[in-house]
Amino acid sequence: MLISVAVPVPGLDLLTYAVPEGMATPAIGARVVVPLGTRVVTGIVIERGVRPLSAQVEVKPLRQVLDDGAFVPEEVVALARWTAEYYAAGVGDTIPALLPPMARGGRADAHKTTRMAAITAAGLEAIGAAVVRGKQREALELLAGAPSGMATSALSARGIAADAISRLAKHGYISLRNDRVDRDPFAVSDSRQPGGRPGSDPGQARVRPESDTRPLTAEQTAAVARLRALAETGAFHVALLHGVTGSGKTEIYLRLAADVRARGRRVLMLVPEIALTPAMASVFRDAFGDRVAIQHSGLSDGERHDQWQRIRRGEIDIVVGTRSAVFAPIERVGLIVVDEEHDGSYKQEESPRYNGRDVAIVRGQRAGALVVLGSATPSMESYHNAVTGRYERVVLERRVLDRPLAAVTVVDMREEYAAEGPDVILSRALRDGIRARLTRGEQALVLLNRRGFATAVFCRQCAGTLDCPNCSVSLVVHGDGHSRRARCHYCNYTARVPTVCPLCAGPYLEQAGFGTERVEAEVAAACPGARVARLDRDAIRRRGSLTALLSKFRDGEIDVLVGTQMIAKGHDFPRVTLVGVVSADIGLGLADFRASERTFQLLTQVAGRAGRGEQLGEAIVQTLYPGHYSIQLACRQDYPAFYER
Ligand code: ADP
Ligand code: ZN
Repeated sequence: MLISVAVPVPGLDLLTYAVPEGMATPAIGARVVVPLGTRVVTGIVIERGVRPLSAQVEVKPLRQVLDDGAFVPEEVVALARWTAEYYAAGVGDTIPALLPPMARGGRADAHKTTRMAAITAAGLEAIGAAVVRGKQREALELLAGAPSGMATSALSARGIAADAISRLAKHGYISLRNDRVDRDPFAVSDSRQPGGRPGSDPGQARVRPESDTRPLTAEQTAAVARLRALAETGAFHVALLHGVTGSGKTEIYLRLAADVRARGRRVLMLVPEIALTPAMASVFRDAFGDRVAIQHSGLSDGERHDQWQRIRRGEIDIVVGTRSAVFAPIERVGLIVVDEEHDGSYKQEESPRYNGRDVAIVRGQRAGALVVLGSATPSMESYHNAVTGRYERVVLERRVLDRPLAAVTVVDMREEYAAEGPDVILSRALRDGIRARLTRGEQALVLLNRRGFATAVFCRQCAGTLDCPNCSVSLVVHGDGHSRRARCHYCNYTARVPTVCPLCAGPYLEQAGFGTERVEAEVAAACPGARVARLDRDAIRRRGSLTALLSKFRDGEIDVLVGTQMIAKGHDFPRVTLVGVVSADIGLGLADFRASERTFQLLTQVAGRAGRGEQLGEAIVQTLYPGHYSIQLACRQDYPAFYER
């Protein structure tokens, strides 16, 4: 008997092994130990009874079978196979998404790092211009085929010496970085303790009593009825739940989940960002107690491992997680919800480059499940599918309790510069608006979709800029005063901010452009005494800091929260009555066919964060292009007109 096995080696296709005489054929989804070159690795059985490629090729026997049955459920194995095929990746590339991280206390406890080399734009040009030869050229060609980079050890295994690599780096043709090597995900679990949250009592599910549920609005009732009817068919359907921000989509997900669960099937609830999982998970935990698990990469390995095992053991009815949770080992799925389906975070930018929403639809199709795509600003493709009848379309046009949408004011920054000077960051309207909120004890969000303090450093003598030696892009200044550093947003290269120009030694170095750190400082300066905080990727590097920040804001310990698009999504803060958008047009200039779509979505979403409580909401949008259709239609929250356009 021959079997095909996926091994966790990037880019490798399935490998064929023989089951030795006298050994039982392992199940699909079981882990097996197999020889690979001079090594021995652990892989997953993908197929049994395969034919040999040719009689000449010697098929090696597998060494050991680690599981009696499937370790990864067969349907998830099949989904991974589909994903690898559809997105042109190796099946092995999908394996990390299928498995729990290694148990605590395993054999490779410390994270090792590998030196990685990646080709730069200059390197790609150098190949075309044929300016490098020999081993260096060979290295560039290899790297051109590996966009996320190759280990330098792999290059030297191909006869490319270390000095060739360092010469390429010196010319800026390649960049070097250290990657963390994850612990061996295949190591056998040694943890036998039940999972669950610390301090929770697994025997006592805190299920929300029926009397506690609030009455649905008429629109919600109609939406639930239609979606329930689809779910009850037990057949595959996709429904687009197009509901304006604050229309109460979460409540609909809860009702559907309760239904599906009552009929003995399970639920997969996807959210685009780690930042949104705690809130969504706690809503579901309040309703379904301990039958809820979380899966996302922000958990510690131990936590993720425990949650994975609980799901696998069938102790979980609802998995809440980010895109990779689409591969969760949950069986009998009857409902898959993709919340904020339009969100770009569903796309994985490294191999396998899948879109979690689309894999979710495929999973739903195979499981005969209802897939609900929820959004206030659906992606063009999903809306198109709904308009043409391929998907069901369920619409929520109103906010719950008929709370009005925020009133939006557009500030033309050209007028503002004329009146206040060219360095203005917060317009008069926004400054006044924030101050008014502070005196009323309300809260404000201020969005700028660009991190850092200053976005460029340039010399007034030679006009040179401080660039990343690896990526040839401007270094971004982070921090102020002593902690000031210049950092590359692509490769994380960091340097001290020089006081004289490194090119001409001129003393006049100037900082230009601004990011969230600068806005935070501007708000603090404009509003003495205000409690201002910042939420962006830099601010939440430490584990737990995100949840802490969000709950401080929710509890009213922060007055103004400044941040990137992370603050725009999904969060429900009833006391926010003002949302300011600084440089609303940042995204319009990107060389991306979705630039105007993304801008429209971001502005609509962020405006939707204002006025979700009793008080009326207001949004102030600063732009240089007040006439652009993305900005105009977002301010009117007119999705259909934008879709038509
Ligand atoms: P969306 O995801 O559509 O933007 P949410 O699900 O976050 O909206 O709901 C917005 C707010 O309305 C939340 O605070 C939610 O608790 C509340 N809400 C939802 N449904 C109802 C209802 N039927 N009655 C009262 N409040 C509701
Ligand atoms: Zn760089």
